[in-house]
Formats: sequence, structure tokens, C-alpha cells
Amino acid sequence: MNLLDYLPTVPDFPKPGIMFKDISPLLADHKAFAYAIEQLYDLSRGYKFDYLLGIEARGFIFATALAQATKKGLVLARKPNKLPKQVFSKAYGLEYGQDALQLQQDILPRDAKVLVIDDVLATGGTLIAAANLVEQAGGHVAGAVVLLEISDLLGSAKLTSANIQSKSLIK
Ligand code: 5GP
Repeated sequence: MNLLDYLPTVPDFPKPGIMFKDISPLLADHKAFAYAIEQLYDLSRGYKFDYLLGIEARGFIFATALAQATKKGLVLARKPNKLPKQVFSKAYGLEYGQDALQLQQDILPRDAKVLVIDDVLATGGTLIAAANLVEQAGGHVAGAVVLLEISDLLGSAKLTSANIQSKSLIK
């Protein structure tokens, strides 16, 4: 099965000049989605971790499925002002704008080993911000796993120089 067949490119979304990879057709096809999760599960087995960190919003989908498959806990990196208690925050630049992620302060035990999950790796800014939240919580980033890496944007090199080992199912 070629998963790229289920990840069409939408030009000029969300801004002119951005070539957006749409994951909706993959999610809508039961077999393609199940196959993607099986393959992501195999990638995640290369890491030692206690928790998965899912990044809002599309990262939640894959992190949830992997948390069930790997029998590990799921913690959430959320957009600002969504979490009810005290948070760690990290602002970051996106391919198409600025944003921030937050992690609830009381959710990870110290020294937890955390595998960070998202749908797409583009410039790497999002995964680096998520990794920073794990570090603020006194945890360790085991690595990062994504469904799709947009190789032209050199995100994986940026992650490597930030000492984060990333794996992607599709490039
Ligand atoms: P980065 O921070 O690596 O530049 O961008 C990655 C983040 O932006 C991910 O959270 C991802 O959901 C979103 N993103 C960036 N480009 C795309 C894209 O082409 N398709 C999808 N589905 N998400 C994208």
C-alpha cells in the first residue's frame, strides 16, 4: 500500500505559496489508517519510552492510537489556554505563522522518557517546542515519530542538531 496516495497536496493552504499535505483521506480509509498505525508502531519500537506526547491537533490522532498499541500513557501538548491547571509554555515559529504549545505541569513524573508524536514534520519548530516542554517538566525526550516528513524543509536536520532523533514513516 502506498500511503502517499492517501495524502494529497492542497496548494495555497492555509496561505498562498504553502503546499499543504492533507491527511484527511488517509484517516477516512480504514485500511490505510490501520496500516499507517501498524507501521508507526514498528517505528516507535526503536525507542525506549514511558509516555507518548501528542501535539494538538492532528498529532493527537496518531499519539492516541499509538498509546493504545504500545500500552503507554498519553500526555497532551496543547495550544495556549486550553489546559485547566498550571502549564509550561513554549512559543515557536511555524512555516505559516507563530504559535505556542503548553503542557500541564503536574502530568509527567520527573525523569519520564517521552516519545513525541505529530502528523507532519515540516521545519521542525513544532517538535522542538514540544521537546522543550518535556525538558521543562524534567523529562527526557526519547525521540520523535511522525507520519510524514516534508524533506525539502530540512526539519530532521534541525532536530538532529537539537539532539532529537526523529523517524518518519513517509518522506
Ligand atoms: P513545523 O513546525 O515542522 O514547521 O510544522 C509542523 C506542524 O505544522 C505540525 O504540527 C503539522 O500538523 C503542521 N503542518 C505543517 N505543514 C503541514 C502540512 O503540509 N500538512 C499537515 N497536515 N500539517 C502540516
